[in-house]
Amino acid sequence: HAKENGGNGLELYMPSLGSRNDERFTMETGLRRALDRGEFSLLFQPQFHLATGELYGAEALLRWETPEGRQIPPCEFIPLAEETGLIIPIGQWVLEQACLACKRWYDNGHTSLIVSVNISALQFQSDLFPDAVRQVLRQTGTDPTRLCLEITEYTAVQNLERSIRILKELAGIGVKFAIDDFGTGQSQLVLLRKFPAHHIKIDTTFIRDMMEQPDDEAIVRAVIGLSHSLGLTVTAEGVETEGQMHKLRQMNCDRIQGYYTGRPMTSSQFKAWTKRLNLAPQ
Ligand code: C2E
Ligand code: MG
Ligand code: MG
Ligand code: MG
Repeated sequence: HAKENGGNGLELYMPSLGSRNDERFTMETGLRRALDRGEFSLLFQPQFHLATGELYGAEALLRWETPEGRQIPPCEFIPLAEETGLIIPIGQWVLEQACLACKRWYDNGHTSLIVSVNISALQFQSDLFPDAVRQVLRQTGTDPTRLCLEITEYTAVQNLERSIRILKELAGIGVKFAIDDFGTGQSQLVLLRKFPAHHIKIDTTFIRDMMEQPDDEAIVRAVIGLSHSLGLTVTAEGVETEGQMHKLRQMNCDRIQGYYTGRPMTSSQFKAWTKRLNLAPQ
């Protein structure tokens, strides 16, 4: 087994460790090399303004394909990248690539498009983070107002005072912030008051069940109302049907993102797609 995986046979000397640990070890070794070997790529999933139907921008989503051609989903490798600290260089790469893509859209005349980038807790809490963001913006020539950083409630509350400082510092140069997966963590409503983010993203799970579960519909409606009263705009994630889109429009949701309006796609697919969008009759 160890040989097959090109391993060094270490696991032979650790009989007490199960195959889960073998897998973890293999993945960690792979993850350490993935950046240098160019195994990562970004996909972009479109986001739309609900009121006008206009394209708002896209969220950058990381993909990893191993040399064996295995696609490893982010929910498997991101947690490991966080545990090992590898998320710092990987996240930096994501930020650079996302800004480069946004700059290309801008140069192609799509000057209003916003690129959204997921930032993990470790990355956000790093002392170097605000400088790293400013440097990437400068080096790629990206307008800071075209960048939105998505962080979860969990990330923001880790060290709330510090999080607020970082947010204010970057918001001061025009960078936007969205609270991702809203409603899934140990939601602390106080966060909405203390942490001056610009947007909320309602998690996929609420949108998925909204049409059948009155409770979920009530939660979505309440989150939109509360966010608006606090001056935040709302994106619904995971919109898969026309029915969901209509309901969200009735509820005054600001933006949608989901398979119904577009799956995550490569940057060249996205570019071709924005061209078609522009050709579409108004
Ligand atoms: P997220 O930031 O909440 O991203 C949205 C996820 O929902 C994406 O999964 C997207 O493909 C999926 N999605 C979008 N529309 C639909 C839909 O209509 N139906 C369903 N069922 N799913 C939909 P993905 O790409 O697998 O990413 C999962 C998570 O991994 C992300 O959740 C984010 O937390 C994390 N992630 C992805 N890329 C990065 C990255 O570059 N850095 C960091 N730190 N985390 C990332
Ligand atoms: Mg996100
Ligand atoms: Mg999310
Ligand atoms: Mg998520």
